[in-house]
Amino acid sequence: MKYAINWDLDSIFPGGSNSQELQNRMVELDNQIKEYHDKVIDWKPESDSVDKFVEILDLQEVISKGFSQCGSFIGALLSSDINDDKAKLVYGDFSKKYPAVQLAQTIFSKKLSEIDDEKWTELMLTPELKDLSFRLSEIRRDGNELLSEAEENIISTLNLDGLNAWSSHYDTIVASIEIPYIDEEGKEVSLSAGQAFNKMMGDADASVRADLFEKWEKAWSDKVDVFADTLNHLDGFRLSTQKLHGVDDYLKQPLEYNRLKEETVDAMWSTIQANKQPIVDYLTRKAQLFGKDKMEWQDQDAPIVLGDMEERTYTFDQAAEFIVENFEKFSPKMSKFAQEAFDKSWIEAEDRPGKRPGGYCTGLPETQESRIFMTYSNSVNEVATLAHELGHAFHSSVMWDMPSLNQDYAMNVAETASTFAELIVADATLKSAKTKEEKINLLDVKMQNAIAMFMNIHARYIFENAFYQARQKGLVSADEITSMMVEAQKEAYLDGLASYHPHFWAAKLHFFIDDVPFYNFPYTFGYLFSMGIYAYANKKGSNFEDEYIALLRDTASMTSEELAEKHLQVDLTKPDFWQAGIDMVLADINEFMELTEEYVK
Ligand SMILES: [Zn+2]
Repeated sequence: MKYAINWDLDSIFPGGSNSQELQNRMVELDNQIKEYHDKVIDWKPESDSVDKFVEILDLQEVISKGFSQCGSFIGALLSSDINDDKAKLVYGDFSKKYPAVQLAQTIFSKKLSEIDDEKWTELMLTPELKDLSFRLSEIRRDGNELLSEAEENIISTLNLDGLNAWSSHYDTIVASIEIPYIDEEGKEVSLSAGQAFNKMMGDADASVRADLFEKWEKAWSDKVDVFADTLNHLDGFRLSTQKLHGVDDYLKQPLEYNRLKEETVDAMWSTIQANKQPIVDYLTRKAQLFGKDKMEWQDQDAPIVLGDMEERTYTFDQAAEFIVENFEKFSPKMSKFAQEAFDKSWIEAEDRPGKRPGGYCTGLPETQESRIFMTYSNSVNEVATLAHELGHAFHSSVMWDMPSLNQDYAMNVAETASTFAELIVADATLKSAKTKEEKINLLDVKMQNAIAMFMNIHARYIFENAFYQARQKGLVSADEITSMMVEAQKEAYLDGLASYHPHFWAAKLHFFIDDVPFYNFPYTFGYLFSMGIYAYANKKGSNFEDEYIALLRDTASMTSEELAEKHLQVDLTKPDFWQAGIDMVLADINEFMELTEEYVK
């Protein structure tokens, strides 16, 4: 094998969870936090010179980078070995630093909010601060909502054993999930949640998928009360915190975090909703190809294997070459970057037990590197995931030279570069199809993404709205949560499926993430946003690379609406932009319907 399937973490901090270098950096971080705190306390923004402001920002920069560096490393240890108890302890020590930083940040934001408008305008025009004005103004806005320093300190201290604890409690329960499975040799094995999920959604044999789906549902429903408790308290904690800050609208935080207007999100969903019938028809057609009348939940992502078609697979090395080669056609810089990531072993791809499920990309600002986590087992889908995560890493890489404050892009645009990278690979795979059967198979693989964005993620958005509304009134029982989930799925899929996934809310990590609520609509936003960019790129040809990088570099310096206006000349609050992206998906669906017609007669 040419490229390593395990990531290199030693070059960040040698020694894994026992790393002395990590301990040293964490001690240094404590001192820097203290220094930052003292400087912020002494600061008199109205009378001190701008230099003092800049000094504080410089220190903030060092701390922010240190936090990400250590946090990414510890996170990497935890996800690559869920039984690394030492890493859990280190994570505990690391988390304890948050309150001190948050306290200093609170004081900083409050001081910004106390600066009068005239002085603020003057400050934001100084050469030292001009480029940071968007982000600093956001911090000043948030400062207005803060309670007293003492109160904020109490809340962030309680967060550790509240909000954050519920989220890591979820991980602990998931680690205990075991799905029994009879393997190919007839031996009974137990699969981790991640392994079972991949097999359940990806196996070519419908009976394997159906059998696993039943066991999968059972595994989550066996612990349903623990999951319901966890979800109730996690979101309950969040709602209480919002209420303490005088915020009644649970969508305010996710919208502000994503720098989006509610109007934009509404325009996006309503345009999608109006275009769903062809998607349901597509799902029904796919079910018919499996010999069923209507789509079953677990068959949505199943491969379509017609005739004597062999399903295409890529070894890790082949995937690497394919990605590098196809990125090159859109952006040589992106291609060179991906090559580097493979050469330097930035990717943890091995398929083995004891790993957390899912995939992610994490940044290491002190060394200006990224690391990618996933489980790779040679499918076309996983090539797409690999490209997706490399897209994230590329996005970070074009911003490393900028101030941390301007690198702080939100989740909705964070998915822009990743989805874009994924689209490049999906289309390249499609073009390389040698037979009609293979083309159908690959079109379907490409469609899975769009369908997840329009249907599944819409269901999550509907569900979370319903859950938050109910949770505002009191605790919600496991049964109620489960029926809310089914209702949401039926609404999102226009009631077009033969079966649903009632315990999806327990099985999906995204509902249990502590740092941001509503870990769903930004995905769909990012998907359609990059469809728009992809269409633009195809039109532009060779001039595109620099424009694309310029757009990525602006992702944390303006609102999403401004970003679209500036770089794509479109208005996100109107349906047109969304419809254009959806039309690209509908064109693929049309092609699929035509190609498959003869198989269902
Ligand atoms: Zn992503």
